[in-house]
Amino acid sequence: MADRGGSVVVGMDIGGTSIKMGLVTKAGETLVTSKVRTGVLDNEAAFAEVQGAVAALVGEAGLGASDVAALGVDVPGVVLEDGTLAMAPNITLDLNGLLACLGSAFPTARIAALNDANAAALGEAWLGSGDASGSTVMVTLGTGVGAGVVIGGRVIAGAHGAAGEIGHINVEPSETEACNCGCHGCLEQYASARGLICLYREECEKDGAEPVEIAHTTDALAVFEAARGGNAQARRACERVGHYLGRALAAVAVVVDPDAFVIGGGMSGGWDTLGEACVERYREVAIVSCKDTPIRPASLGNDAGFLGAARQAILAL
Ligand SMILES: [Zn+2]
Repeated sequence: MADRGGSVVVGMDIGGTSIKMGLVTKAGETLVTSKVRTGVLDNEAAFAEVQGAVAALVGEAGLGASDVAALGVDVPGVVLEDGTLAMAPNITLDLNGLLACLGSAFPTARIAALNDANAAALGEAWLGSGDASGSTVMVTLGTGVGAGVVIGGRVIAGAHGAAGEIGHINVEPSETEACNCGCHGCLEQYASARGLICLYREECEKDGAEPVEIAHTTDALAVFEAARGGNAQARRACERVGHYLGRALAAVAVVVDPDAFVIGGGMSGGWDTLGEACVERYREVAIVSCKDTPIRPASLGNDAGFLGAARQAILAL
């Protein structure tokens, strides 16, 4: 496909309650960003609002619709290789409708869509902690555990959009509790915010210790803080998360053998409490040829999504 002439690219990271968007150059320089709150995205009025926000972003940089060469969108759902949204359990979104609206407002732009964890991985591979030309596996630790696999600078979505579902690798065969996916002993049961808190409560119970105050079921920060303060049970819980993660990465290494692993998401804010255990366990169990693969915390924060979405659109040019 010939270059469409536009000089800038819009990246949009669509979440459950807001959209973070950025206007970037094809080389990856961010010009302006904005964040808009959203409700359900399944009607013309909502699409028009989003379209207005994108137009405002482009206008802020002193540019117009015809300057936009490409527009990439990431969503919290399963997106197939052809850009079709197959499943999005946590958001009300008519992706085709939204993209049609954006397409009519930016007629010269190539439009692309992908899953949000894949976008974050692509963003980190392009401009962050990953490997720009090689392969990067990024694991996003948050409310759940998502992941993205980038090979040769491109995201691998898989035949059913399930490539890189690292959160559902079995790391504990003896687990009796079921994961959201129906299996038992998935990484997500331990390395998510909820998982960390469960492990922490388990450790407290073992020692007969009173847990620190935890504000809600995903308040991982409280456990990280306790671990930093030397709380023995919190430290052990964080270490266990690291060990499970290291074990899962070793399983991924024999399939993908990436140039780098990147750990992102809200839980990566506790990398100082779990990173060492992760790397240690990884080196212990990984196949010998992959033992030295770097495992790094993500570096783009919340910008990884819109940057990856923009990159996906650039790759479609
Ligand atoms: Zn699972």
